[in-house]
Amino acid sequence: MSVFVPKSSLEGLEWPAITEGRTRALMAVQHQLEHSQWWSPKDIKAKQFRQLGHLVAHAYRTTPFYKERLEAAGLDPKGRITVKQWEKIPLLRREDIQKAGKTLHSAKVPPSHGKIGGIFTSGSTGKPIHALRTRLFMFFFDSITLRDHYWQGFDVTKKLAAIRSSKKGDAPYPDGGKGHWGNITGATPGAGNAVTLNLLCTAKEQVDWLQRQNPEYILTLPSNFRQLAEYCLENKIKLPNLRKGQTISEAVSPAVRDICREAWGVELCDIYSAREAGYLALQCPDHGHYHAQSEVTMVEVLNDEGKACEPGEMGRVVVTPLHNFAMPLLRYDIGDYAEAGEDCPCGRGLPVLKRVIGREQGMLVLRSGEKVTTLLGSGDIKKFLGLAPVRQYQFVQKDLETIEVRLAAKRKIKKKEEDSIKEWLTAKYGCPFTVTFVYLDEIEKGPSGKYHDFICEVKT
Ligand SMILES: [Zn+2]
Repeated sequence: MSVFVPKSSLEGLEWPAITEGRTRALMAVQHQLEHSQWWSPKDIKAKQFRQLGHLVAHAYRTTPFYKERLEAAGLDPKGRITVKQWEKIPLLRREDIQKAGKTLHSAKVPPSHGKIGGIFTSGSTGKPIHALRTRLFMFFFDSITLRDHYWQGFDVTKKLAAIRSSKKGDAPYPDGGKGHWGNITGATPGAGNAVTLNLLCTAKEQVDWLQRQNPEYILTLPSNFRQLAEYCLENKIKLPNLRKGQTISEAVSPAVRDICREAWGVELCDIYSAREAGYLALQCPDHGHYHAQSEVTMVEVLNDEGKACEPGEMGRVVVTPLHNFAMPLLRYDIGDYAEAGEDCPCGRGLPVLKRVIGREQGMLVLRSGEKVTTLLGSGDIKKFLGLAPVRQYQFVQKDLETIEVRLAAKRKIKKKEEDSIKEWLTAKYGCPFTVTFVYLDEIEKGPSGKYHDFICEVKT
C-alpha cells in the first residue's frame, strides 16, 4: 500500500500536507475522483452530458469543421445536449481529421485552459494525425495517472523503471536516464525515484540495466514485457525487488500476464490511453477488465448499426475527450475494438470494457535474432510526414535484410523522397535494410479487421 503524501508548501508542516498551485489542483480533483468513481452509472452519465454540452457548444461556435458538421446534423448547440441529439453527431474517422486539417482547430480557446501543444500519432493504424492539446487536457491526464497509482496500490516512494521512449539518443544503454513517476509529465508531486531506458535496447541490455536498477515497478509495452520475461526465464534471472508491472500502448494478453507471473511472480496492470485522446480506461483494481475514465473521456462501444453494445458484444471504440477545447474530437472512432462488460462487482459505477483488441505493435527482428519495438513516437511521425505527403503507411519486414514500405500518398512520391524515407528508416532502427516501395490507394486491413503499421514476416 502506498504511504505517499504530497509535498507540503508550509514551513514545518509535513503531514497532513497543505499544497499549492498545480499540486493543490491535482489533489482537489483527486478528492472528487475518489467520490465520483462510486456514483451510479446514471449519475455519471448525467454529469458527463453537462460537460459535453459545453464542449459541443464550444466546438460549434469556434471551429469551422463542427459549425458545418453539426448544422448538417440538424443541431444548434447552445450549451446543453441530450442523448438523442448526441447520437445524431456522425462519427469522426481518422481520415476526417487528416482532411479537416486546421478547420478542426478552435479559433477561441479559453485562456484559462493554458498553453496549447501539438503531437503526432498514428496509434497502430498507420494513419498519422496531428492533434492539439491544452495544458488543462494534460492536467486531467496527470489526474488519471495519479488515480491509477492509487487504484493499483503503487508505493510511489519506491523506484519505477520505465522503458517506453524509442526516440533516438533518449536514455541510452548502459546508463539510461532519469524518469518521472507520472510517466508523461512527472505528475506525482514529491514522488520517489524513477529511471528510464530507451525501448530500442535489446532484451539483454534491458535486463542488464534492470538488474543494476533493481526497481519495485516496471512500466513498458506488453510485447516488451514478454521479451524481458522470456529472457529472464531462459537465463534464470530474478528481479528480487519487483512488485508489479504497468503496461501501456498495446493490448495485454493473458499469455503475457502468465509469463510475467512465471518469470518474476508479479501481476501486470494495464492502462488504455491514446496521445490524441488521453486516458480512455484503467484496469479495475480488483479485476482484469477495464473501467472507462468517464470523468475525462466519454467512451462509447458501438455495434455496426451505431447502437451501444450490450454486455458481451464487441464493437468499435468511439471516444470524446471532455476537456480538449483546442481541437475538439466529438465521437472519434479511434480504430480499436472492445467488448462491453457488465457492471463491475467492485461497485464502481464507471462503465466496464471487458477487453480491448487492436492495440498491437509488430516487432522488428535484427540480424542477431534479437527483437526491437517498432513503436513510433510523436517526433518520429512528425519527421516522417515532413519527408513525403503520406496519408497511410505500413512497414513490412520481409526478411532479415528487407523492409517493404507500403504507402498511400496524396500524390506521386518522388525518387528523392523515397531516398529520404530510406535514410529515416535506417536511422530509426539503426541498421542498413534494403528498402522497397509499394504504392496503394488504400492499405488493407489484416485478418482481424485491424490495420497494422508494422508487420514482421520473419519466422523466428
Ligand atoms: Zn471494478
